[in-house]
Amino acid sequence: MTKQRLVILGGGESGVGTALLGKEIGYQVFVSDKGKIKEKYKQVLIHNEIEWEDEKHSEDKILNANIVMKSPGIPDKVPLVKQIHEKGITVVSEIEFASKFTKATIVGITGSNGKTTTATLTYHILKQELNVGLAGNIGDSFAKQVLEGDFQNYVLEISSFQLDNIIDFKPKIAVITNITPDHLDRYNYQFENYVASKFRIAMNQTKDDYLIYDADDEVITNHLKNNSVQSTLLPFSLTKTIENGAYLDKEEIIITIDNNQIIMPTTNLALEGKHNIKNAMAASTVAHLLKIRKQTIRESLENFQGVEHRLEHVLKINKVQYINDSKATNVNATYYALESMDAPTVWIVGGVDKGNNYEELFQFVNEKVKAIICLGVDNEKLMNTFSGMVDVIIETQFMSEAVKIAYKVAEAGDSVLLSPACASFDLFENYEDRGRQFKNSVRNL
Ligand code: ADP
Repeated sequence: MTKQRLVILGGGESGVGTALLGKEIGYQVFVSDKGKIKEKYKQVLIHNEIEWEDEKHSEDKILNANIVMKSPGIPDKVPLVKQIHEKGITVVSEIEFASKFTKATIVGITGSNGKTTTATLTYHILKQELNVGLAGNIGDSFAKQVLEGDFQNYVLEISSFQLDNIIDFKPKIAVITNITPDHLDRYNYQFENYVASKFRIAMNQTKDDYLIYDADDEVITNHLKNNSVQSTLLPFSLTKTIENGAYLDKEEIIITIDNNQIIMPTTNLALEGKHNIKNAMAASTVAHLLKIRKQTIRESLENFQGVEHRLEHVLKINKVQYINDSKATNVNATYYALESMDAPTVWIVGGVDKGNNYEELFQFVNEKVKAIICLGVDNEKLMNTFSGMVDVIIETQFMSEAVKIAYKVAEAGDSVLLSPACASFDLFENYEDRGRQFKNSVRNL
């Protein structure tokens, strides 16, 4: 029998992981990348005798596929992908492909903000008592982990792009952290399409599976009102009492599942900010479902180290706290960063504006921000929006200069916050590069 042909578009972490798994299972595998494949991935492909090409897509080697795994970075509207669809070839994402080859219990976490934080925190709690892997948009690819030994449980961070190409993928536990407009360019600028894409995480779930979500998020609750979901719902809320799910009662998180309740104080949570109480609720609800001991959950919430570039405390210099929130690439993330500030704040903001509406930040800027440093190629919109609101507003195109200005303006007791609300590509390689440059500049002060 001739082998089934698996073509993989995109030779990054998920593509190469899928190639390895596909080969092991018996597919004839071909990897094609329009850009340059990183040297370390080329070496893996060569070493494993997997055929590949880069800086081109050879149609004759692609359109003869039985199945295509498309990297989430490649939009559906590119001509090659259209051709693949027209030929009737099945297109899947890595999580769809890899989940077929594991019997593990899967926790899938999606949302516009808070995915990485919630997934990492969930993993941190679960790993105290369970055999568990962390994958998806984080670290080693899911496919590679399934291939190399496999875990009994996985926590997967899942983007909407991954969900767009699932067919049967069905997590036992799904989490939607929140839904705010993002990536609309990939969804014909229709917010409903993006919302529907996030909800695909629950589309194959039955009543034996769980959907954990933010009940304070109207986009989510409206969608649930108008669309049927089979999953058992476990909402969480900061503002209202929840019978089945999690809520905040003064300074305690109360989680109830089938009359089985756990109560945890929020006073010693390692992560600050209301959004992180939500993330902690989501993660603890998963842990409670998977029968992790209450004491373990509580301790894990207290000793979690946080994730780099998310409200990361860098250094205190002359009693000024420097905070790196470079991952805040949209207004909603920055909203929670500013909300969590309890000291007068020097705010470094700017970059590639994705059509931002800054209005929801005004209240915090008026209350807490004493100076604004705009750090982008084009700072005009920021300067116009905020110049009446603060005494000091300065612009620059250099991180080192931004940090030096912040150092001059800040006084003992203040905080300096990098929370850009914008993408980083105008001045930096990516948000990690931006965050690292910030930290290096702070350390050089
Ligand atoms: P994602 O993986 O979805 O991009 P991250 O955990 O990396 O989310 O966080 C992205 C940004 O959003 C950070 O600035 C972080 O402080 C902020 N954030 C984290 N959790 C939430 C939440 N539940 N709601 C809103 N913003 C959040």
